[in-house]
Amino acid sequence: MVIVMQPTATKDQVQLVVSRIREMGLKDHVIVGTDLTVVAAIGDDRKKDRGSLENIPGVDRVVPILAPYKIAALESKKKRTQVRISDECVVGGTKVPVIAGPCSVESEKQIMESAIKVREAGAHALRGGAFKPRTNPYSFQGLGEEGLKLLAKARKETGLAVVTEVVTPGEVELVSSYADCLQIGTRNSQNFKLLDAAGRQPKPVLLKRGMAMTLEEYLQAAEYILAAGNPNVILCERGIRTFEDHTRNTLSLSVVPELHLRTHLPVIVDPSQGTGHARLVPDMCKASVACGADGLIIEVHPDPAHAMTDGAQSITPPMLAETIAICTRIAAAVDRGM
Ligand code: PEP
Ligand code: MN
Repeated sequence: MVIVMQPTATKDQVQLVVSRIREMGLKDHVIVGTDLTVVAAIGDDRKKDRGSLENIPGVDRVVPILAPYKIAALESKKKRTQVRISDECVVGGTKVPVIAGPCSVESEKQIMESAIKVREAGAHALRGGAFKPRTNPYSFQGLGEEGLKLLAKARKETGLAVVTEVVTPGEVELVSSYADCLQIGTRNSQNFKLLDAAGRQPKPVLLKRGMAMTLEEYLQAAEYILAAGNPNVILCERGIRTFEDHTRNTLSLSVVPELHLRTHLPVIVDPSQGTGHARLVPDMCKASVACGADGLIIEVHPDPAHAMTDGAQSITPPMLAETIAICTRIAAAVDRGM
């Protein structure tokens, strides 16, 4: 980090900064300019409270140089991470896989029909929530373990790997015993105990971006999972809160190329939560593939008008087939396959 002194800072104040830097176990390098003095602190300062230096008299600001995450940083790894959910669903390679299925598992009939139809449409994995984090306590909360059993049955029937959400640290082991990939939702993206627990089990983790999270906070959340020992983390842009209300969220697609500059982890996009309207989903899928997304997660329901959750944003299986066909052409244009 670099500590920028105020133009009026005295030599004693600079010396105070130097002593504090040394106390922190870092090396100091004072640069006296014509107008300002800056003190460079050399060494890994990520475990220190950098902000505390700002409270020393004469300090104008503290400028961090190292990103606050380490394992997630692009510099920490030469090769991009490929996360293998199954043989046909590898995220971060040359292919752009599609994870599709209903928002939630509603019944055996609904999830089996969904799985068969998304498979026919060309999806590479099945999504479906058994534990649903709902804003309204009176809304359908998911079928719980019964839903996990139905997902396992759908996997057996179709061969599609299963991606499903885990909501509490105490349920990580249970969900992990059924799922091929654990989803951590936007509302839980800074539930640090949950991130840590997901980092201590062997299945890949699909971490949604918090709806009010900066990229730096997002990568630190991913770092919790990585630091706990699980290298298989998939990032997922699902829209953020803004003033705009023509969509449920604002799908911030520029984070895809930006994350690729900052991290080796694969980045997928969820245009369903990202828009909230089925009519917008196909076009945002296309835009996602065009801007370099490593995969898509899409809500698909055989009968959206009767869906128990997120019906407005669920596309039908024929819409999925058409979307995948167009995205395949776009993927080829950006040197990927589907
Ligand atoms: C979902 O995928 O159905 C979901 C609840 O996602 P998010 O956490 O992004 O809202
Ligand atoms: Mn949903």
